[in-house]
Amino acid sequence: MLPVIALVGRPNVGKSTLFNRLTRSRDALVADQPGLTRDRQYGVGKLGDRPYVVVDTGGLSGEESGVDQLMEQQVQAAIAEADHILFLLDARAGCTPADAVIASQLRRTGKPVSAVVNKSENLDGAMAGADFFSLGLGEPLPISAAHGRGVRSLINDVLDAFPEPDGLAPEQDTGTLIAVVGRPNVGKSTLVNRMLGEERVVAFDQPGTTRDSVFITYTHDDKPYTLIDTAGVRRRARVSEMIEKFSVIKTLQAIERANVVMLVLDAQQGVGEQDATLAGHILESGRALVVVINKWDGLQPDQRDRVKDDIDRKLPFLDFAAKRFISALHGSGVGKLYQALDSAYANATRKLATPELTRILEWTVQEHQPPMVHGRRIKLRYAHQGGQNPPIIVIHGNQTDAVPTTYKRYLVNRFREVLKLTGTPIRIEFKSGD
Ligand code: GDP
Ligand code: GDP
Repeated sequence: MLPVIALVGRPNVGKSTLFNRLTRSRDALVADQPGLTRDRQYGVGKLGDRPYVVVDTGGLSGEESGVDQLMEQQVQAAIAEADHILFLLDARAGCTPADAVIASQLRRTGKPVSAVVNKSENLDGAMAGADFFSLGLGEPLPISAAHGRGVRSLINDVLDAFPEPDGLAPEQDTGTLIAVVGRPNVGKSTLVNRMLGEERVVAFDQPGTTRDSVFITYTHDDKPYTLIDTAGVRRRARVSEMIEKFSVIKTLQAIERANVVMLVLDAQQGVGEQDATLAGHILESGRALVVVINKWDGLQPDQRDRVKDDIDRKLPFLDFAAKRFISALHGSGVGKLYQALDSAYANATRKLATPELTRILEWTVQEHQPPMVHGRRIKLRYAHQGGQNPPIIVIHGNQTDAVPTTYKRYLVNRFREVLKLTGTPIRIEFKSGD
């Protein structure tokens, strides 16, 4: 699964600046969605095509009193889930007593820790680091999160220590990879059990650690599928294990690994902030999506209408996805999920021909021209496909940097309509001739 990098350090050293820099490449899609806020704590970054999870732990005070309580529970939990800790320090403030306290706490975790000296943009690297050698965390690495200096090579070094992504059998054996995600108690385990109930389970991947999800390959109507089970259904042998903590990291890893995500909502509880945050993560990943509204049993017709309105109002940016109303407990609607899953996956991986994309672009531009910029009209000339799952449509033209978000959304909507590309986000990338 994806390596997990945690950002630790005193307040104001630049953790959230670094977090934003590392996860920003994925902003574009989200910026196009009104009403969507990003998760400020968890994100996925990419170096080349290697994804990793970033966790911003907030901040450690590093006060000298009550040393052992300093690591607040939340930070401790994040550190426990991390593969590598970036301990951020402030070149301008120099090494403070609080830094020394935090350093000794981090050393005790036994995890790999890098001392990262931020705000080093105007300093000679060796000078910036010198002050921090005394922390005993090896050679301090100067960066500037705000200016992006040293960040790439830092992450490169961190990722180098991890093996290349493993390890599952090739695609044709596992079929469509499906991640079942949702906040605690929405019914994920019940749904996974229901889906697997009558199927032939072919393979079962034993997780290495509690942080890992279970991969279950099975056949449905003679077609292979693999469920990535974040709830750990088949692992809950003892009651004590039932209360497994919901893990955002595990969820992010499963989303990243999947072809199609099933976001499970609880009709009886309604849509909450945590649902919206998860929806944001799914959107950022670009994965195909089916929204599963569970616990549809026992609701009156007027309640059902209210739930539907609630979803449309609070999660308007998921309007591209099929919605299925089910009862995992009673099994109603579960069989019909496959039609939505298959369709979402087929659309996400469909081959789109250059002449067709270019024709749609021409119609779209004729119908509604892009605006003028600096007295010249933005020109969009032709389009071709740049990737699948999600479909990426590359549009060539002039002054494309100036295409407004609203116009980009209009393009996405038109491509979606004409190509009937439902169930998957669509990404547009521009290539400019000037
Ligand atoms: P956090 O509390 O650790 O999350 O710190 P923030 O990311 O909020 O940054 C605290 C302040 O430091 C902000 O005013 C940032 O603009 C500033 N800052 C962050 N990175 C750099 C940097 O590389 N150079 C300089 N000069 N300032 C930075
Ligand atoms: P998870 O934490 O998302 O894996 O949720 P669980 O599958 O453990 O379910 C949480 C609770 O919701 C359990 O008490 C289930 O019996 C109940 N539940 C799950 N699906 C349904 C459903 O379709 N209808 C109703 N009424 N309850 C359900």
